[in-house]
Amino acid sequence: MPELPETETIARDLDGALQGAVVRSVAVHRQDVLRDPARGGRALTGAAAVRLAARLVTSLTGGRVTAVYRRAKSIVLAFDPARYAVVTPRFTGALLLTRGEASAVRHPHDCLTIGLDDGRTLTYRDLRRLGTLTLLDHEQLARWDEALGPEPLDPELTAERFSGILRGSERAVKSILMDQRRLAGVGNIYANEACWRARVRPTRRGRSVTHVEARTLLAELRGVLAESIALRGTTFRDFQDAYGSKGGFAPMLQAYGRGGLPCTRCGGTLRETHALEGRSTVWCTGCQR
Ligand SMILES: [Zn+2]
Repeated sequence: MPELPETETIARDLDGALQGAVVRSVAVHRQDVLRDPARGGRALTGAAAVRLAARLVTSLTGGRVTAVYRRAKSIVLAFDPARYAVVTPRFTGALLLTRGEASAVRHPHDCLTIGLDDGRTLTYRDLRRLGTLTLLDHEQLARWDEALGPEPLDPELTAERFSGILRGSERAVKSILMDQRRLAGVGNIYANEACWRARVRPTRRGRSVTHVEARTLLAELRGVLAESIALRGTTFRDFQDAYGSKGGFAPMLQAYGRGGLPCTRCGGTLRETHALEGRSTVWCTGCQR
């Protein structure tokens, strides 16, 4: 599932490639990925989905791309006049930029194609269609942004504030790291990795984490995120960048996907559980406390 480094990779590539491009055509092929911006991102059906699809076409056609950036695990495509298409790839979603015309590159899992005036096509493709797409105006974008927690790589997130986020909760450390309202962008892979690096057991209660441990955990979280961005993210199964290439960080993973194997740091056994939100949690019984 694309997390912070993967969506950052897509956003950076698209920002460099799309700034200034003008939209010539928009086509919505799959309406089940559409989400209602006004009602907490609920799925749309029937006439409401048809209306949003029509609004995507009329609002974006003729618009100019001003920027593409990441917030949490979403990619924001900003258009002039002020409209924002927000794509959250979740499991199998991909934003692909290709040279050819939309009709020549159609794929059965394409959800949205945006044809640009220079002949390129931007496609949102999603095999399982668990990802989402919505269209926001400036005010709606601000409300969406406000509901999300701070970005871990933002220098304004101090160790004190991070410590407060952890210690103010009875939940497991890993669950807190992945709660987008408390901290944005971290998902299962990097929560596991940060805990391993910081030698903190992911199942521990947030309240039990000391200030020193919280400081270490934030530093290690930033480290693993930055290293992964430098290698263009982790492709465990599905992630591909805007040009269809895989990320290079998977061989660097020390915890995620290694349940049952020896810890590379202490030789202890990595244990795996699915007790937290049904997701894979891996930690070392020897060196994570
Ligand atoms: Zn270990």
